[in-house]
Amino acid sequence: MSSSTVITNIATLVTNDPSLGDGSPLGLVQDAAVVIDGDRVAWTGEASKAPATDNRVDAGGRTVLPGFVDSHSHLVFAGDRTQEFNARMSGRSYTAGGIRTTVAATRAASDAELEANLTHYLAEALRQGTTTFETKSGYGLTVEDEARALRLAARHTDEVTYLGAHIVPPDHADDPAAYVALVTGEMLDACAPHARWIDVFCEKGAFDGDQARAILTAGRAKGLHPRIHANQLSYGPGVQLAVELDAASADHCTHLTDDDVDALANGSTVATLLPGAEFSTRAKWPDARRLLDAGVTVALSTDCNPGSSFTSSVPFCIALAVRDMRMTPDEAVWSATAGGAAALRRTDIGHLTPGARADLTLLDAPSHVHLAYRPGVPLVSGVWRGGVRVV
Ligand SMILES: [Zn+2]
Repeated sequence: MSSSTVITNIATLVTNDPSLGDGSPLGLVQDAAVVIDGDRVAWTGEASKAPATDNRVDAGGRTVLPGFVDSHSHLVFAGDRTQEFNARMSGRSYTAGGIRTTVAATRAASDAELEANLTHYLAEALRQGTTTFETKSGYGLTVEDEARALRLAARHTDEVTYLGAHIVPPDHADDPAAYVALVTGEMLDACAPHARWIDVFCEKGAFDGDQARAILTAGRAKGLHPRIHANQLSYGPGVQLAVELDAASADHCTHLTDDDVDALANGSTVATLLPGAEFSTRAKWPDARRLLDAGVTVALSTDCNPGSSFTSSVPFCIALAVRDMRMTPDEAVWSATAGGAAALRRTDIGHLTPGARADLTLLDAPSHVHLAYRPGVPLVSGVWRGGVRVV
């Protein structure tokens, strides 16, 4: 037996349904209520018209929006890269292994240590309003360690991504072709049962366009759907390959030609922007305005990982996107909710239309604009996931 709950006295409700409320993409309803029945949204609208329910929650004139959908993170890891970050931010060069440091620590960790670390960061994200997250392997880079990472991740989310092609590990440095053969062969066979997605870091120094195509095509043949780390550090073939293979998302999109933007605008691949990475590496910002003006669907996510973007905070990414990537507050909130859902090809989340999963975030603010207007302030004061209040 499910029971129904109305959350009422909502000053601003973000539905992401343009047929509701003010007709904008956010579908804003003022003086609103949401009815949850079981794990689903049963009704949304003006509070004065809400149907009778078993339970009642008073939102106190605050804001309710769909839970954030973080469609890009790397949370199965061990170890720490504080020194590397400190050196980078102190203007010193730091030549120790970067990603290889995390690979060594991850391989050395026990299952229990890896899972404890994962659940720690998931709880941290949940407290900041994230109700759906994708996470990847990519710090194991052996058959056993990649499969283990995915098996652990799959206990906590349905959105699991096989990223054996993160970098060529040191043990294969003199024979990258053999590593690609492993990623598309034995490693893929071991990993595919635990994953929904396959990803590749398509970049100079990682995997080139031909290797990326071979890896994603092999994954697709095993029932995995492609997504790509594309055009982060330099121009390259990643974005065009993503569109050609109908990848759900091309992630980073920092260095784009006009042809890349056109391809995204004419395809069904979402551009996922990850401003935590540019913030934490003092790199050039992706030009969200250019993508939005071309009609590209944009998602915003954290890229949470211990090297280049160690934030689990979607609100922080929204503030960066508005301040430094020329997104409007409305666009940034849409991209962090409905955009993330599109990047995961999910229609049940990212909006608060009747029938949607009851994933909601309550902000201690009268409007969603405060997510960008009050950067760094912990505004999230309630979270429901699948109809259950968890924060
Ligand atoms: Zn990433």
